[in-house]
Amino acid sequence: MTELAANEPPGIASGAAIEKRPLERYVAPEKPSLVGMSRAALAAALGAIGVPERQRRMRVQQLWHWLYVRGAQDFEAMTSLSKELRADLAQRFTLARPEIAAEQVSVDGTRKWLISLPGELAGKPHEVECVYIPEADRGTLCISSQVGCTLNCSFCHTGTQRLVRNLTAGEIAGQVVLARDRLGDWTETNPPVAEGNEEGRKRLVSNVVMMGMGEPLYNFEAVRDGLNVVADGEGLSLSKRRITLSTSGVVPNISRAGAEIGVMLAVSLHAVTDELRDELVPLNRKYPLRVLLDACRNYPGVSNARRITFEYVMLKGVNDSLADARALVRLLKGIPAKINLIPFNPWPGSKYECSDWTQIEKFSEVVFNAGYASPVRTPRGRDILAACGQLKSASEKLSARERLALRAMAMTD
Ligand code: SAH
Ligand code: SF4
Repeated sequence: MTELAANEPPGIASGAAIEKRPLERYVAPEKPSLVGMSRAALAAALGAIGVPERQRRMRVQQLWHWLYVRGAQDFEAMTSLSKELRADLAQRFTLARPEIAAEQVSVDGTRKWLISLPGELAGKPHEVECVYIPEADRGTLCISSQVGCTLNCSFCHTGTQRLVRNLTAGEIAGQVVLARDRLGDWTETNPPVAEGNEEGRKRLVSNVVMMGMGEPLYNFEAVRDGLNVVADGEGLSLSKRRITLSTSGVVPNISRAGAEIGVMLAVSLHAVTDELRDELVPLNRKYPLRVLLDACRNYPGVSNARRITFEYVMLKGVNDSLADARALVRLLKGIPAKINLIPFNPWPGSKYECSDWTQIEKFSEVVFNAGYASPVRTPRGRDILAACGQLKSASEKLSARERLALRAMAMTD
């Protein structure tokens, strides 16, 4: 199913200990899925089954509606396409979604899906996780961009894992399709309040954050194409203001992200000096704070109405002093910013502890007094280890038998 990758992904300097090399690359199944495909890819797929060029635009439009508004799971359901075309499509393509290998539901309603993707390494399937967090005014889906991660941040569990491969654009958009399936969030099952009034519908998946496994800006093209499918107003229709891409600071791709994707940006800052950031986020040795913050200042479209979120993980005795808080405020001066304080989620073997709650509060007060809203991101789904940096750690401990049992449970509820 998989082959050793011959090349490193674009933009990765060879030999640098800061980054890992992918072990494998995606090899398309014999019968590819149309789910997650862009309009251009769909047009090419139609071309491959002999649809004449002059018809392709209209057919793509029809397919788009079935795939991303109706969530069709069967070609037979696509009644606006001729019987013949449906049969031709079914012969060469599928409507397969990434597969849910396990589902866990937290007492607070957070759901975590272990997703199994084509390919395996040493007998283990390629797996990522996707987390759905319902709140009163929104439902946020946290999606992944890589199996493992290119980078090695010292406080992050994903960073300790091998980078196995990049997700494809289809697998990225496919996570949103999968969540809509599982939550019943399509037009038929969750209709708009009034015909044509999309805003009147309470979307279960209303926001997407790319904060799962992987560094999205080291998988740039697939992330761009996948998110542009998610944001397409005639399909899945999530506004770009409701999509946030989080990066640890791959500077050359930050301005590209602004220009070619145009979603909201979050930057994993975590430290106010290069010395400490070099240790926490080793990529800082390549792109230090000054160049990272310059890139943020120049992020296309940044304004007070479209602020950059700076994420700051609270590590006891490491980066949580009030002097750090004051330095943080100074550092971000002049950048339209929000600051998100994240309580550290410990994982087995991690060398850090989460800051004391009183310290987080004092830190947050300094930030607040400087004029920043400083929400402390409440950990959600703790009982199912759904929080940042813990993704996949729990599932890795499950045996194949336990996974199967979970899967059976997921199917029967
Ligand atoms: N690779 C991207 C996006 C995924 S990580 C990035 O680093 O930005 C999403 C967020 O979770 C990042 O801010 C990351 O630094 C943070 N994170 C990782 N491990 C964590 C942990 N154990 N506790 C709290 N936050 C963590
Ligand atoms: Fe990768 Fe982000 Fe974890 Fe760093 S924090 S290792 S970039 S997933």
